[in-house]
Amino acid sequence: RAKADGRGIYRFFEAEMDARLQARRALELDLRAAFEAEAFDLHYQPIYDLTAERICGFEALLRWNHPLRGRVSPTEFVPLAEEIGLIVPLGEWVLRRACREAAGWPDDLKLAVNVSAAQFTSVGLITMVRDALAESHLPAHRLELEITEGVLLVNGNATVAILHGLRGLGTRIAMDDFGTGYSSLSYLRSFPFDKMKVDRCFTRDLMAEPGSGFIVRAVISLASSLGMITTAEGVETPEQLARLREEGCNEAQGYLFSPPVPASEVPALLETWNGGGRRAA
Ligand code: C2E
Ligand code: MG
Ligand code: MG
Ligand code: MG
Repeated sequence: RAKADGRGIYRFFEAEMDARLQARRALELDLRAAFEAEAFDLHYQPIYDLTAERICGFEALLRWNHPLRGRVSPTEFVPLAEEIGLIVPLGEWVLRRACREAAGWPDDLKLAVNVSAAQFTSVGLITMVRDALAESHLPAHRLELEITEGVLLVNGNATVAILHGLRGLGTRIAMDDFGTGYSSLSYLRSFPFDKMKVDRCFTRDLMAEPGSGFIVRAVISLASSLGMITTAEGVETPEQLARLREEGCNEAQGYLFSPPVPASEVPALLETWNGGGRRAA
């Protein structure tokens, strides 16, 4: 009987695995179809300069409105797109579209675009970025590419060479989600990043946990010693903002200012935050 039970459990797991695999495959097919149908969209979240007290740029964030499932989070479909190799053409679409849209903004605004590790596997990335800039007439210095620590883990030397190539175009390079990856600090010596984005988890616990406050302080100090500016992610309350200011953080991004919005809402945000009158924060 024990044997039979065991088999039963095994079958149960097998069925569950099967279902999961099928769901994944379905999502994968949908993802490819969505790309063909251009069913993706970009939203933009403002980045606020704490010294100038105005919006200094926007981060482009990929959105997928699935016909049945509704909005699928990029934290779910970006890893899948990476796995099936779709991130390369999808990432190119993001860059082109974002550069084109940002070229129409006031010219003191920067555009930040996320680039995943899988896009770093060839030097084709440099050509792709160069072409997107040329096509859109967006000046290279207005483009900032955000990469995560993981990128440097995969193929350190080749990645550093590509980063130098990208920098050579005049673009800026930011370290995204700093403090959440698995790499050591040693990679900070391998490439001079322009910016460090302090991960949302530190901002979130800033008021509740003394530890997070110390980490934020240490990261800001580390970044500034290395000549990088800092952006705090996930700023949701005025208290967090005040604390970040005190610690000398340069920029902030989060729901306190605005969630990511469609391109059509960018002018209204600029009017609110950068327009004539004083601002709330
Ligand atoms: P990320 O680059 O760190 O982007 C910040 C994420 O935090 C965004 O989630 C944003 O909506 C969210 N966020 C911003 N402010 C707040 C806040 O105050 N509170 C909270 N709770 N969340 C906030 P989103 O748009 O879901 O994107 C998730 C991740 O997906 C991004 O993290 C990025 O790693 C990836 N991603 C998004 N778009 C792209 C893309 O075009 N290419 C690549 N390779 N990855 C992308
Ligand atoms: Mg980012
Ligand atoms: Mg981030
Ligand atoms: Mg993040």
